[in-house]
Amino acid sequence: MTDWTSLYASRMAGVVGSDIRERAKLLDARQIIHLGGGLPDPEIFPYARLAQASAAIWADPARARTALQYAPSEGHGPLREWIAGHMTARGVPCTVDNILITNGSQQGLDFIAKLLLSPGDTAMVEIPSFIGALRAFDAYQPQYVGLPEDAEDWADPALGGAKFCYVGPDFRNPTGTTMTLAEREALLDLAERTGIAIVEDGCYEDLRYDGAPLPSLIARAVARHGSIESAPVLHTGTFSKTVAPSLRVGWIAGPAEAIRKLVLIKQASDLATSAFNQMLLLDVVREGLGDMIAEACRVYRGRRDAMLATLARVMPEGVTWTEPGGGLYIWLDLPERIDATLLSQRALAEHHVSAISGAAFYPKGAANVTPRHNCLRLSFSMIGAEPARIGVERLAALVREMMAE
Ligand code: PMP
Repeated sequence: MTDWTSLYASRMAGVVGSDIRERAKLLDARQIIHLGGGLPDPEIFPYARLAQASAAIWADPARARTALQYAPSEGHGPLREWIAGHMTARGVPCTVDNILITNGSQQGLDFIAKLLLSPGDTAMVEIPSFIGALRAFDAYQPQYVGLPEDAEDWADPALGGAKFCYVGPDFRNPTGTTMTLAEREALLDLAERTGIAIVEDGCYEDLRYDGAPLPSLIARAVARHGSIESAPVLHTGTFSKTVAPSLRVGWIAGPAEAIRKLVLIKQASDLATSAFNQMLLLDVVREGLGDMIAEACRVYRGRRDAMLATLARVMPEGVTWTEPGGGLYIWLDLPERIDATLLSQRALAEHHVSAISGAAFYPKGAANVTPRHNCLRLSFSMIGAEPARIGVERLAALVREMMAE
């Protein structure tokens, strides 16, 4: 019998599963009220547009051949061009040489870590951080350091020495909060002073329900330096939240020098993203990405408002929460004495409500980080206002019960 554990590479010691992905397996259990994972609502997927785009590809033999062939590792040329135009329109003038298509932005985060991290290198991450980014970085065996919460501390000379700093400036997963413009500028100051790269996760930037957009970090960096080529930022983008996640199409935008290296990583990893998926996606975004974003925002804005109203009505004193201007998440701060991991376990087992303990979103072993044990992430993306109301009411009842214990 092969003793597999004795054969595993040392990097596997740091590779653990994600509580959220484990819970995703429960999705078919109909009686569960899902306030856990931030999956997009299937109601808003563009079924008709995708069916039309697909039929048009099969109806044209030349396009059908391209769709079933290996795509270039860099990505399907016309889609790269479209994305370069999309980034240019958002204040990041660039060309196809600045764009690599990835299998979702999750692959982009993995590739960036592969590009930049040797074992023992320091990765700076915002606190708390997207769990999928942490799990991707873990495999490259970094030391973690937390980006201090207060931007005034970012001028601390002790913060140097990391390879990169990972942040999701808009409507963060898990807190739903957004970096101010002053924080964006301060982070670029930190990058310029210390020579580290910024890894900007743009996953939620289109899901804005209130107010005007802030410039992305990569847009501000280009404005400061005059060109994307000298910007210290790699930006990951995705169509998962605006079109559909199963197409697995995202991108990395950055200086051509870094993109060239990332293309080599893509080649060695999976050769290319599906040509068919890229062609489908290009057809639907050309037709009307704006409409799809508007529809997603209309649906999620309503759900956010409903969930905030329920929280205000039912949560006991001592519980506070964020009020996100976009994205899919609300972050609850529970009284100190409540263990949110226990609460989320009891919520699922006793009340059939899934919610994610905040403890999942902290990097392992960061000397300057104390993980919070009393926070909970709720998502309002997957279910309608009525089941969400019932779920939040059940959670509030459980919080009261645990406060009294
Ligand atoms: N970044 C963030 C912040 C996310 O929440 C997610 C998925 N939920 C991703 C990246 C990865 O998404 P995808 O690979 O589908 O683009």
